[in-house]
Amino acid sequence: MSSHNFSIEFFPPKTPEGAEKLRVTRARLAELQPKYFSVTFGAGGSTQKGTLDTVLEIRNEGHDAAPHISCLGSSRESLRAILTQYKENGIKRLVALRGDAPSGYGGVDFSSSEFRYANELVEFIRTETGDWFHIEVAAYPEMHPQAKSPQDDVQRFAAKVKAGANGAITQYFYNTDAYFRFVEEAQKLGATVPVIAGIMPITNYSQLMRFSDMCGTEIPRWIRLKLAAYGDDAESIRAFGLDVVTQLCERLLAGGAPGLHFYTLNNAAATTAIWHRLK
Ligand code: FAD
Repeated sequence: MSSHNFSIEFFPPKTPEGAEKLRVTRARLAELQPKYFSVTFGAGGSTQKGTLDTVLEIRNEGHDAAPHISCLGSSRESLRAILTQYKENGIKRLVALRGDAPSGYGGVDFSSSEFRYANELVEFIRTETGDWFHIEVAAYPEMHPQAKSPQDDVQRFAAKVKAGANGAITQYFYNTDAYFRFVEEAQKLGATVPVIAGIMPITNYSQLMRFSDMCGTEIPRWIRLKLAAYGDDAESIRAFGLDVVTQLCERLLAGGAPGLHFYTLNNAAATTAIWHRLK
């Protein structure tokens, strides 16, 4: 696989120890020569400084970096300031999202948010900054959990592309059929931008179940049963997860997926292992 459509995601570390660990992780993953590293952004701008600092560190190390930016709970004014800061620092890529309103989130009133959906954010970025940024948006092959229906969700996706997105990254999934069907339906609606498949390595059963419940990803029954049966046997979970996710990536690439985006959770090992297997 060429490095062209292979990207890697981090979250901004919260402590100096976390920042140091991420530097080590990044050095290892940089050897795989991804196209860029992306850095997530907390709801309402809660990680704004952490996201910017991490992105600038990545750039200073000589790699391309794409901050995520979310709009729920953020004002036009604050987003304008963030966009200006990114522009001034020569950042050319963004991953634009609505974001989520965490329950009991202090200090930010999400109900009166100036932005409600990601298509409004994409429009805003285009109005403010023209073609400066290459914008990726999110796509959900298994439907976003709050969508009215899968059909409605793919239309909402097409609206983000129409608003000016250059590409998309999917939520992670383990059903390739859902991905290929989504891409086909989006294309029929005129959304023909590359849809990069989001890949979540499998390393920890309870964590995977928790994340998947939240974001609406289905863990196929056979995978779930096997993982549960391994219990505390971390080595078997790791080996099985590596097989399953490598095969998923192989099928996606063989079927025409334009690239892969790895959710690393700031760990290098699983992504590195999958990458070497794919080679
Ligand atoms: P939208 O595209 O706005 O869609 C949200 C929901 O609203 C969908 O159900 C859609 O069908 C529906 N919808 C859209 N438009 C309309 C409309 N006009 N009327 C009615 N319904 C509508 N979250 C973060 O907080 N920070 C991050 O850094 C981050 N990074 C992510 C990266 C990727 C690759 C992905 C896949 C997700 C990421 N998320 C992040 C999570 C994301 O913010 C959530 O999934 C969020 O709930 C939806 O964001 P969105 O941009 O897809 O929203």
